[in-house]
Amino acid sequence: MSILLSPIAAAVLVLALPAAAQELSAKPELPTKEQLAKDNNLFLTIARKALKWDVPTEPVHIAGPLYFVGTAGLSSWLFATSEGHILLNTGMPGSGPMIVDSIKKLGFKAEDIKIIINGHGHADHAGDFAFMKKLSGAQLAIMEPDVAMIEDGGKSDFHYGKDWKIMGQPPVKVDRVLRDGDTVKLGEVILTAYNTPGHTRGSTTWVTTVVEGGKVYSVAFPDGGGFNPGYRVAGPAPSYSGMTEDYRRTHHTWEMLKPDIWGGHHTEYFDLEGKRERAKTEGVAAWVDPEGYRRFVAGKKSAFEKEVDEELSEPQAEGK
Ligand SMILES: [Zn+2]
Repeated sequence: MSILLSPIAAAVLVLALPAAAQELSAKPELPTKEQLAKDNNLFLTIARKALKWDVPTEPVHIAGPLYFVGTAGLSSWLFATSEGHILLNTGMPGSGPMIVDSIKKLGFKAEDIKIIINGHGHADHAGDFAFMKKLSGAQLAIMEPDVAMIEDGGKSDFHYGKDWKIMGQPPVKVDRVLRDGDTVKLGEVILTAYNTPGHTRGSTTWVTTVVEGGKVYSVAFPDGGGFNPGYRVAGPAPSYSGMTEDYRRTHHTWEMLKPDIWGGHHTEYFDLEGKRERAKTEGVAAWVDPEGYRRFVAGKKSAFEKEVDEELSEPQAEGK
């Protein structure tokens, strides 16, 4: 990794790498963790630029019916079946046309998307549901606790709701309400939805299997186990009641999964570019990464438990 970071990239590393946070945020030219926690707009602006959320990238075939069709920083996944397509996540508002182009480059049509699903209801993943639904007439299927924030554009989000006009996305009607363990089926593809709350109450981890070259691969898309600047994850007044227990249950659910192939909702989580490069010579083997999955889960879990410890060691306010 390059050492020469722009201030923005360095600031985002503050977010991404809790261990480096204190050292980096001590530099006066960078926003501190506290500033980012207070100013949602600053957080959004920095993350958007540094993590290339709005930058197009080439689509790529992963295995069987599964393709990556997202932006350079935000994952969108296409399952192309004999009966039409399933789309998982859209990126930010405005990403829709990039996803449509990617689908076209693969030789498919975005108009053939029949079902849209998501990992959680924030704008960087649900941003263009309204656009994609209008274009395709697809059914939008969302885990029950996130339905309200999808339908009201983010107004009811426990953390970003107060800034929903900047942090939210165009509201869109949900067609199917999912519950923990429900399945979404189309053609040869069956996806199981696990409610893995914490990041939002309706965060969803999707699990499926795909077949490539006569081999069966288990696939998981973990979501919901990370926290953002300004979240209160523990103590007497967490961001929502029951949050601490939700996160721990989510991390446990993730630990029970043993996927061969996995996809994070942010591309840096699973090294999209590295795997894409290796896939040119190795094929599907480049996407098989059970150890990377275990590292990801362990990293999210330890960052969370460290945050719990920090919050619990703060002096408690009077009367709490
Ligand atoms: Zn989020």
